[in-house]
Amino acid sequence: MIVEDNALNIKLFCDLLAAHGHEPEAVTDSRNALDAARNFSPDLVITDIQLPHVSGLDLIRLIRKDEELARIPIMAVTAYSTSEDEERIRAAGAQAYVSKPISVVRFAEAVEKLLESSRDAPTDEVLDDSTNEFIDGPGPGEAGGEES
Ligand code: MN
Repeated sequence: MIVEDNALNIKLFCDLLAAHGHEPEAVTDSRNALDAARNFSPDLVITDIQLPHVSGLDLIRLIRKDEELARIPIMAVTAYSTSEDEERIRAAGAQAYVSKPISVVRFAEAVEKLLESSRDAPTDEVLDDSTNEFIDGPGPGEAGGEES
């Protein structure tokens, strides 16, 4: 999920994510971001820092405080590039940080890295997957017997 107020950046980020096989959802008004995140349950939140209404830093803090959303990895994208700003972004709870103008390669690498690390972490979803495997387990021979 992308939270960004600039239409050109939304297009760029969506195109990049789609090109890497992801399904991007864009939110232009940060006041809608928490509700949107609950609806989409995104694998990753990419947020601009300079946003009207709810700033990117506040949004990161709100997500980290939210019981349902706290574990979603967050990547910040911002025009600010001083080390002090980066510290503030990381302190708020973002795991990654890419500065604008973005490097297409660095952006894609940061996305894949965050998705990989959250996939490696033990989550409830992993348990659900193994349950499904168990249900699918019995071979087709047994299932076919009833119909003949
Ligand atoms: Mn902006």
